[in-house]
Amino acid sequence: MASNPNKKTLRSQYRMAFLLGQGSFGNVKLAWHRKTQALVAIKSVEICKKTIRGILSEMTILESLHHPNIISLFQVLLTSSQIHFILQYVPGGNLVELIREEGPLPEEQAKKMFGQVVSALRYCHSRGIVHRDIKPQNILIDAAGNVKLIDFGVAIKCRPGTLLKTQCGTRGFCAPEIVLGEPYDGKKADVWSLGVLLFFLTTGYFPFRGGTTDQIKQKVTTGTYTIPTHLSGQLENLIHQILTVSPELRPSIEEIENHPWIKKCEVNIPPMTDPDYKIIEMLCGMGYNANDILESLQQKRYDEPMGAYLSLRNHVIEGYEIGSITPAKPGDQCPPPPPSPAHPSVFGLPLRRRASEPNFGLLHRQPSKEQNTVALTLSGLKMSRCVSMPPIAVYYPKKERSTSTLALHSTPVASPCVYNNMSGVEIILPHKEDIEVNTSSPPQTMGWFKRLRKGIRDCLSRLCCLPRAPKKKPQHRSSKRVAPLKKAASRTK
Ligand code: ADP
Ligand code: MG
Repeated sequence: MASNPNKKTLRSQYRMAFLLGQGSFGNVKLAWHRKTQALVAIKSVEICKKTIRGILSEMTILESLHHPNIISLFQVLLTSSQIHFILQYVPGGNLVELIREEGPLPEEQAKKMFGQVVSALRYCHSRGIVHRDIKPQNILIDAAGNVKLIDFGVAIKCRPGTLLKTQCGTRGFCAPEIVLGEPYDGKKADVWSLGVLLFFLTTGYFPFRGGTTDQIKQKVTTGTYTIPTHLSGQLENLIHQILTVSPELRPSIEEIENHPWIKKCEVNIPPMTDPDYKIIEMLCGMGYNANDILESLQQKRYDEPMGAYLSLRNHVIEGYEIGSITPAKPGDQCPPPPPSPAHPSVFGLPLRRRASEPNFGLLHRQPSKEQNTVALTLSGLKMSRCVSMPPIAVYYPKKERSTSTLALHSTPVASPCVYNNMSGVEIILPHKEDIEVNTSSPPQTMGWFKRLRKGIRDCLSRLCCLPRAPKKKPQHRSSKRVAPLKKAASRTK
């Protein structure tokens, strides 16, 4: 088979290691930058009719978000059939893996983590971005135990007061109004998912469980769930407030942040505009051109020089010693692969290391026994793939308090709660009218898919390393919006 030159571009810049996780549309691999040796996560998504909107949405939104609890995008690389998002690597696994391995979080720990998620989401909402897929699989833990929100594949930027129509998200996390197929306020829907997340973090299982979709739907739409008695009164109060069936009465993210149970976290968002000349100097020592880097950063191209700069800067921010990184010699660009993927858990280990030390074992979370380990060959290396499988959370709750935010009826759960939370992953991509991204307008003679594909290529060619596409018709914004909110909801606290 003829080799694909674009694939070579990815491999020439990054050395692929093993699979970190698999999502609905793509997979995420650990890799390291061949020159800077910084670890990155590469999310690769096949470009097709089904994924194209998610790709555009994720790319534009990730480029606009800069928050310590939101994943950082370093580079976007387009090949003939795939798009690769070069992302900050987060070594501690996701929140489902954490809860599965360690059980429900003590309230103090939950306060810290949940406070960070609230801070990240408040930042998104303040910029008009709704995530629409808040769930523990989409929240990762870094080496310092801080959380990072990921996966903006169904996120959308919308104007205040607009209602969305597309049913998207994951079953069990969707707000009642989405489940009922009603137009919804994206921010309020995110808040509901936060409530499900908070319940899961502190109990180890999900509030709305049932054998069938109809049973779950009935519980969600009536707000019927039971709270275990071991939760503090304040936490119970917060969960009740968040899981309010009526979106008009449900608190906003700002109101949640002011709840007494929440550990408000003040974040310091460093300005993106100040280039770090120490990093640029190092990159020059590795063969990069300072002007290329500065230009890429200024124009936010998310191309190779920008990727090298951002990944190296992150490497330094994470605590690696800058002086210990030596430029790779030609022909000897990569550290040797680890002898075997034996990865001690990230927690409880000294996490700061010199860059000259092997970087695999220290950072990757040990795959748990239940995780599927499949051998696969990547770049001629035999590696281990740990599939982030749908986990099953099994806990035996003590006596529970039944509740229904509609006060219709309640179903106390006395038996062990077994909930296969991932088996029902149902992600529906947003309809065209829900998307607010720039797309080009190619000639009408092309098919729908070809037009979209051309659109993404044009869009990406402005950002990445592809040659610029020939100029076409003037671009226009296809930002159809959904119907405006009929009435401003009067909220009662
Ligand atoms: P999808 O959009 O297909 O759901 P995600 O972006 O949610 O893909 O990633 C799927 C999984 O891959 C996550 O649950 C996580 O386990 C892993 N993962 C994703 N991004 C990273 C990252 N930056 N660092 C480490 N692991 C990651
Ligand atoms: Mg995901």
